[in-house]
Parts: sequence; C-alpha cells; structure tokens
Amino acid sequence: MNILLVYPEMPQTYFKLDNILKILGKKMSFAPVGLLTVASMLPKEWNKKLIDKNVKPLLDSDVEWADLVMISAMNAHVPGIAPVIEQCKKFNKKIAAGGPLFTHEHLKFPEIDYFILNEAEITLQPFINDFIAGKPKKIYSSKEFASVTESPLPDWSLVNKNDYAYGTVQYSRGCPYMCDFCDVTALFGRKPRVKTPEQVIAELEILLNNGKFENIIFADDNFMGNKRVLKSELLPALIEWRDKHKYAPAFSTQITINVADDEELMQMLLEAGFRQLLIGIESISEESLKLMRKNQNTGRNILADLHKIQQRGFLLMTGYIVGLDDDKETVFRDQVNFIQESGVIMNIINILKAPPGTELYDRMERENRLLPEFDFVESRSNIITKMKPEVLASGLAYVMGGVYSPQAAYERYMKYFGLEKKSKVRNPIQRKITLAEIPTIFRIVRYLTFDKDVGKHFRKLMFYVWKHERQNLDKGVLFGMIMQHQFEQWKRLEKVLNEYPVNTVIEKVA
Ligand code: SF4
Repeated sequence: MNILLVYPEMPQTYFKLDNILKILGKKMSFAPVGLLTVASMLPKEWNKKLIDKNVKPLLDSDVEWADLVMISAMNAHVPGIAPVIEQCKKFNKKIAAGGPLFTHEHLKFPEIDYFILNEAEITLQPFINDFIAGKPKKIYSSKEFASVTESPLPDWSLVNKNDYAYGTVQYSRGCPYMCDFCDVTALFGRKPRVKTPEQVIAELEILLNNGKFENIIFADDNFMGNKRVLKSELLPALIEWRDKHKYAPAFSTQITINVADDEELMQMLLEAGFRQLLIGIESISEESLKLMRKNQNTGRNILADLHKIQQRGFLLMTGYIVGLDDDKETVFRDQVNFIQESGVIMNIINILKAPPGTELYDRMERENRLLPEFDFVESRSNIITKMKPEVLASGLAYVMGGVYSPQAAYERYMKYFGLEKKSKVRNPIQRKITLAEIPTIFRIVRYLTFDKDVGKHFRKLMFYVWKHERQNLDKGVLFGMIMQHQFEQWKRLEKVLNEYPVNTVIEKVA
C-alpha cells in the first residue's frame, strides 16, 4: 500500500517568516510534525512518502504512485486545499483528511472521501481497519481526548531536516483558558494533557541526530497550561538533559503573560534552554480583554510584565488584535506607543477574525456578522467589524508603519538593549559558529548592510552592538533579519490596505 501524506501550502503571513527564511537559505520555518506523527501510526509495511508543499511541489508522479492520499491541515491552510484536491482527483485518487481545519469544517469539502477527525490517536486506527477490510466510512470522529503519552515518535525520516529553520516538538495539548477567538479548547479541551519527559527527550534526540537544529520550537498552544507537571517533571528533566549535552539547541514556545508572576518558573525555563517566548497580548484595553475572555491578561501591568520577562533574558514575540468591538479610533496610536515602549522585538498585528469552532464564531453567527471566507491573512477578516472597514484598514496601515518601519524597529531594539538584564544562567546557550557557516553569515551581513531600505538602520544597529553589546553580535544580525522581514511585511500589507481610499484614522490620531 502506497500512502502519500500531503501538507498544503501556507499563505503568506508574518508568521511564515518567509523573508528571514530566504536570507537563511531555509525553505520553511517548521516541519509538519502532526503529519509526521500520523505517519508513525500507519502500518509498518505500508510505503510512505510525505510532500510538504511549502518545501517542494507535489508532482503528478507522486499522486499517481499513491493508493491513498492523506492531507492534514489547520485553518490557515484553507487557500492551499483546493489545488491538492484537484490534483488528486485528476488521477481518481481517494483522499483522507484530518487536522483542525477538517475537524471544524469537513462539510465544506465534499470532494474528500474520508475524514479522520479530532485526534488521530483515537480515530486513525478504526479507519485503517476499515480501509484494509475494504469498507471505509466517510467520517471517523470522537468526543474523547487521547492520552498523548501514547503518541508515537514522529517519523522524521520522511523529511529533509535541513529544509526547516526550527525543529519541532509537541509536549502538551489543551489549555485551561477560554479566549473567545481561539479554537484550542474546542479541539483539545481545558485540561492540558502532557507527554512524559522520556517521550520529549526521545524526540529531542531524534532532532539532534543527523542534521542539527540550532533552534527547536515546542509547538504547544500554552506550554505552561499544566504548570505543576511542567515544573515538577519536564523542566527538571530538560535541565538534566542540557547538563549532559555540551551542545544543545535553544528552545522557544508559546506561553501566557502570567509567566511573569513566577520567578522560579522563568529561571527553570532559562536553565532548560528556553530563550524565545510567544505571548498573546491581544489588546491594551481592559474592557476588550474582558470581552474576549482573555482573563489572564486582565488586572495587571502588561508593560511591566513584558519588561520583566525580557530582563530575565527572554526574547519575546507578542501578538495583537485590532478591530475589536470596543476599539475606538485612538486604539491604533495607543497600540503603536505601547509596542514601542515594550521593547519587544517581534510583534504580530492582526485584524480580529473568528476561526470556525470558536465562541467568537458562534457569537458572530448569532449577531449575523459572519462573512463566508475565513483565512489567516493579517489584513482580512471573516466578520463584519463594528469599526468601519476603511477606518480599520487605514488604522492597521498606521500600526504597521509605526511598528514595522526600519526606524521604528531600530528604536525598539534600542529600548530592548536598554532594559537591564538580570539573569544568570548555568549552561548558557553557546552558539558555535562553524567554518562552513562563515560564508552564510558574511552573506547575510553584506545583504543587510547594503539593502536600500534597511541598510542605514542595520548599520546603525550593528555599530551600537559592536560598541556596547559585543557579546550580542549574533542578536544584532538576528534583529537585522527581523527588521528586514518586518519591512517587507509592512510594504506587502500596505499595498493591500491602500485599496481603501480614506486615511481618516491617521489624520485623527497623528
Ligand atoms: S491562552 Fe492561548 S491557547 Fe489558551 S485559550 Fe487563550 S489564546 Fe487559546
């Protein structure tokens, strides 16, 4: 039996980091670790081939080879699904699909033959049994949540690790919070389920074999969802593992702002190797946070928290939303000021969207405010916002300029460097530059130094780093790449947003 596993193309968004990938010579940020895990659950005697369309094209010959095509997709993949279906149907191939997109929206894909919904640990085996017996059903679903301690190791042999900037591990599923725009709890429940330290370390060992990753992302929706077990089991094991490995990668993950309340947890994260954290701030308005039920962000000084986390030694990426029901026209100016004051290097700004399966989606449906198309592109939304579209468009363009312009990025980096760093970490992450990497670094620095748009600010940045932060030269180069990426993102979205004729917000708040 020949099984072709297909991961559809991702649309261009900030999170795809395509400009940074281009400079680094990588094809994609992360490998499709969910699909690699599914591959491990298939019968050993089946032949498997995986095509990640973000890395290489899906050839007709791949499709012809297959007895069955399996697609996995998230909501963000919507625009990439139709081309895969069309190519498979040209050769009359049967398609089985799973993952969050189909779990919420399988009815929108009548051409797909079988749906393996919810968690594959529960629904895949019954499908396999029926498929072998020649009587597969249309839909396999479950109301139960799987025990992730039974998840097999992802089959990394199906991809070329060198294509990806980050290695990927998933430790937990589920989140105790109930943010109304997020589908995590609908998909995975409010009680986070975690893998054992042995499972996680086995996955790390695979990632470090044959083709090392400098950076590994823990692809959890909320890494500290089960804080007690994290602190008592996984982090001590990771610290011990790092003690043994002289050369271990830096880790990154998604976490909630209340990590700032727990000094011990932050220190453990650092000792375990975590350096980059993604935190959803969403709004700087207390009323909006309450409305979206982002309760963990309310009643606190978020700016002080962001400074504190960075002072401990973490690099942050933060996420914001505009176009919330409570947003006034001044929100754009206030958000730019807040982000610049935060000193956070990377910031993702989105228009409010209602992903299928969320509480917000249901509310928008009840209020008759849903639009038919949903995708994750920053400048689009699937809801009728209370703010007029032209005001929102010009406001978003204003925020982009205020945060993503090279000058704004430079000012923010200076703010970041100005924050007094307080942490002492045993086993600091040693970035060893190999001889083979020197031409790449030289190429990146030359590219950024002479770039017509960011060159001036990159040179200023490197001059500052050379003079005051010489131990952070690698950060200077990284920040330069981010500066360039943000600039490209700004220009790309500005083009889209300029379709709206009125620049009312900018006039009012500037
Ligand atoms: S904290 Fe994050 S993962 Fe949890 S519900 Fe909110 S947005 Fe979703």
